[in-house]
Amino acid sequence: MNYDVVIIGGSYAGMSAGMQLARARRSVLVVDAGQRRNRYATASHGFLTRDGSAPDVLAAEGRAQLLAYPTVEWLDAQAQRVEKTEGGFLVSMDGASSVRGQRIILAIGITDHLPDLPGLKERWGRTVFHCPYCHGYELQQGRIGVLASSALSMHHALMLPDWGKTTFFLNGSFAPDSGQQAALQARGVHIEDGPIERLSGEHLDVVMKDGRIIPLDGLFTTTRITPGSPIAAQLGCEFEEMPMGMQIRTDSTQASSVPGVFACGDAARLAGNVALAVGDGAMAGTAAHRSLMFGL
Ligand code: FAD
Ligand code: MG
Repeated sequence: MNYDVVIIGGSYAGMSAGMQLARARRSVLVVDAGQRRNRYATASHGFLTRDGSAPDVLAAEGRAQLLAYPTVEWLDAQAQRVEKTEGGFLVSMDGASSVRGQRIILAIGITDHLPDLPGLKERWGRTVFHCPYCHGYELQQGRIGVLASSALSMHHALMLPDWGKTTFFLNGSFAPDSGQQAALQARGVHIEDGPIERLSGEHLDVVMKDGRIIPLDGLFTTTRITPGSPIAAQLGCEFEEMPMGMQIRTDSTQASSVPGVFACGDAARLAGNVALAVGDGAMAGTAAHRSLMFGL
C-alpha cells in the first residue's frame, strides 16, 4: 500500500498529527506498538478539558475520533525499519509486511529507564513519578520525597517544596556541594543522606538501610531517557543532547533534519506532556500536509 503519510507511533502526538491530515482528506497509516509512556498511571492531569481523565480513555477516544475519517488506517505493529526510496519511504513492520509513505511522521515517544531500587518499578505512575506538574497537586501538600539519581535531581529537589514538605534522599547518587546545600536549605528541603534499602508498604514507605521507615505521600525521581525506537537514528535524523537524554532535532514546524520526515511529541521534546504532544502533533500534521502540497 502507498499512503500520503505513514505515522509511526499512535499515541497523543501521532494521533493529533493524523487528525490534521485526515481533515485534509489525505491517506494516512498509523503504525502503533501500544507502549504509551503514561500506561502506568491511572489519571492524566493538566490537559485542558480532560484534566484527571484516565490515560487509556483519552487514547481510546482519540483513536475512535481519528478512525472515523475514511482516509485513515491503523496497524497495531512495530515498525522495524524506514528506508528512503524514490519519491518517499518504505516502512517495514516486525511481521515482514511493508508499506510506502510519501512523508513520515515520527511520534515514537521515549522510554524511561527507572533507577534500580527494589519496590520502585511497581509504584511507577502510582506513588512514584517524574513530573510535579502532572502528579504533585494530588499529594495535597503532603510528605514528598525526591530520590536522587544524578546531579539533575537537584532541580527536582528545589522545585518540589511548592508541592509539599520535601525530603531529598541522596542514596549515594549525588552529593550537594556547600552552595547547593544552602540553596536546599533556603527552600526548606530536608536531606537524608543514608542509603535506601527498598520502597514498600501499601502506599509508600521508604525503608532505609539503617532500619528506619519514612512514610511518604509521593516520591519523585528523574529517569534516564532513550528514544522510543531506534528508527529515528536509523533514518539519520539529527538529535539534540538534552540533560536527560537525546531528543530528535526539529525546526519550528516539527520538520526533522531528514527531508520529508517530521517528529513530534516526547521524542522531539523531552520535557513533554499530553498537551504539548497534541500541540506539536498538530503542527507536524499540518507541516507534512504543506510539504505534500508544495513539495517543501
Ligand atoms: P507516547 O504516549 O509515549 O507514545 C508513543 C507511541 O509510539 C507508543 O504507543 C509506542 O508503542 C509507539 N512506538 C514507538 N516506536 C514505535 C515503532 N517503531 N513502531 C510502532 N509504534 C512505535 N503527561 C500529562 O500531560 N499529564 C500527566 O498526568 C502525565 N502523567 C504521566 C505519568 C507517567 C508515569 C509518565 C511516565 C508520563 C506521564 N505524562 C503525563 C507524560 C505523557 O505520558 C507523555 O508526555 C505523552 O505520553 C507523550 O505522548 P507521545 O505521543 O509523544 O508518546
Ligand atoms: Mg520542536
